[in-house]
Amino acid sequence: MTRSDTVIVNARVLAMDPDRTRASAIALAAGKVTAIGEDAEIMALADTGTRVINAQGRTVLPGFIESHLHLFVGAGELDHLQLLGVVGFDALSQALRDYATSHPDLPVILGQGCDYDVVGRSLTRQDLDAILPDRPVCVLAADHHTAWANTLALERAGILEGRSLGRGNEIVMGNDGLATGELREFQAKAPVLALAGAHRIMAGLATGKDPDPYPSDEEFAADCEIMAKGLAHCARLGLTSLINMDGNPYTLRILDRLRRDGRLTARVKVPFHYASGSTLADLEIASEMAQQYNDDWLSSGFVKLFMDGVIDSGTAVMINDYPDQPGWRGEPLWSKSEFAAIATEADRCGLQIAVHAIGDGAVRRVLDGYESARQVNGPRDSRHRIEHIELIDQGDIARLKDLGVVASIQPIHAPGASDFPLQPTMNKIGQHRWGDAYLHKSLAEAGVPLAFASDWPVADLNPLRGIQSALQRPVYEGASDERLSLHDILAAYTTGGAIATHSETRKGQLRPGYLADLVILGGDIEAATPEEIGTMQVEMTICGGQIVWEKESAF
Ligand SMILES: [Zn+2]
Repeated sequence: MTRSDTVIVNARVLAMDPDRTRASAIALAAGKVTAIGEDAEIMALADTGTRVINAQGRTVLPGFIESHLHLFVGAGELDHLQLLGVVGFDALSQALRDYATSHPDLPVILGQGCDYDVVGRSLTRQDLDAILPDRPVCVLAADHHTAWANTLALERAGILEGRSLGRGNEIVMGNDGLATGELREFQAKAPVLALAGAHRIMAGLATGKDPDPYPSDEEFAADCEIMAKGLAHCARLGLTSLINMDGNPYTLRILDRLRRDGRLTARVKVPFHYASGSTLADLEIASEMAQQYNDDWLSSGFVKLFMDGVIDSGTAVMINDYPDQPGWRGEPLWSKSEFAAIATEADRCGLQIAVHAIGDGAVRRVLDGYESARQVNGPRDSRHRIEHIELIDQGDIARLKDLGVVASIQPIHAPGASDFPLQPTMNKIGQHRWGDAYLHKSLAEAGVPLAFASDWPVADLNPLRGIQSALQRPVYEGASDERLSLHDILAAYTTGGAIATHSETRKGQLRPGYLADLVILGGDIEAATPEEIGTMQVEMTICGGQIVWEKESAF
C-alpha cells in the first residue's frame, strides 16, 4: 500500500457512494482517494509523513460541484457595491453615495444585486441623477440581465441617444428621444461596462470571443489576480469543481497561467459562449478549446447559449401570454430552425450544449432542437443541459428524461426560498402556473439528472445556503411540495454535477481511485437545522489532495 499523504479520522463521511454510503475515515495519496473505512483500518495507512486530521465528528463530503457560475464576472464584482436587500430610494441613495465617497477614483460607480422594484418601479436615469449627477453610475439587477445607468454614464458610453443592437438587446428609449436609463441584456450594458474597464471580464458573456483589443501583458496579469481572488472565494466555500457558464479562449488562458503558477485551486470547465451574432463557423473555436483543454483540472468541450431572458423583465419566453401583458410571450433569441441547426452542428462536433431557458416556451424550443440533433446525428451520450427551467409545461418533463437532458437548477433562485422575493416574479408567472414553476422533486422523480448551482454572481455562491434554500423553499399555493431530502440535495451538488460533466467515474463520490476532492464542514450536516446549514462554515477544502482552504485553527 502506498503511503498516505493525508488521513482524516473521526469523521462523519457521507461518501455519496451507493455501495458504501458512510464511513468514519478516509485516506488520500497522490491526489486520489486511496481508502475509505473505519478509523483503525485507515490509521494503519498513516506513517510519520502523513498529515492526520481529526475531524471531531464533523461531516466530510465530496467537494461541492458548482454546476453553473460566472467565475470571472463574479470575481470582478467582489469589490463592487452590493445592493442585494437594499429597498427604497433613500436606502439606494445612501448606499450609492457612501460607496462613491469611499471610491473617489472609480471611472464608473458599479452596483450589483439591485431589485427590479427597488423604488417601487423600474429605475430611470433621472432617479440615479438625483443621487449622483456628477459621477457615472450603473447598477445591475441581481440576474445581470438588466442594468440602469445615469445620464452621465449613458453620455460617456455614447448611448444616451440609443443604438441599434442584436435581437433581445435593448437600450430602452423614452418619449424625449433619449435613453431612459434601462439597459436590457448584455449588448446594451456593454458600452457602460467598457467605460468601467470591465469589458475584458465581460467578453466571455458578451461575445464569447477574446477581448478586443487583446489585453496587454499587464492587463493579463491584472486579470489573473482577479481570477485568483474568485478562486479563493470558491475554495473558502468548499467548491472543488466549477462549471463556468460564459467563456472564451481568454478565460482558459488565465486559468492555465494560474495552474502553471500552482494557483489553480479548483477544477474549472469553461464553455465557448455562442453569443448573439455568432455563426456556425464559430463552433470551430469551441472545438479548438475542447482539444486544447481536456484534463481533470481545465476542460472545455461545451457550448453555452441563451434562449431567453428572465421572468421579471418579461424576456423569458412563455408558451402562453404573460398574465399582466396580454399578447406578449417574450421573444426567443434563436428561431426554431436556427437553434436546431446550432444544436445539430455542435452535437455533430461531439460538443455538449447548455442553454439558458427560463420560460416554458424556451424550454420547449431547446428540447425541440435537441430532438432534431438526435434525429440527424443519432443518439449518443451527449448529456445536453438546460439551465434554470423556472417554468415548464409538465408534458415536457418526460422529454428531458427521454433525451437524456441534465436539468441545471439554482435552488436559491426560487422566489421566497431565500434572497429573492416572491414578487414580481410569481405574479408575472400567474397563479394558475405555480404548479409548473421551480420544480425540483418532479424532475428528480421523473428520472431527470439534477445539477445544482448558484449562477454566481446572480446569487450567493455559498452551496450551504443553496442547500438551505432547497430544503426551505416555499410550497407555492396550489402547487406540489417540491422540497427534496437532504441526501438528494447533496447529490445534486456532488454526484449530479459529476454526471453533468461526464465525470461520475472520477468525482462526486468518495471512493478508492476517485479524485481527492472533499470538504470538512463545521458541523454534522445531518443533525443541523436548515438555518444551521445555511450559516455553517467549511473548515477545510481539499482539491486533488491539496488543502486549498483551511479555516484558521480549525484542526
Ligand atoms: Zn448564468
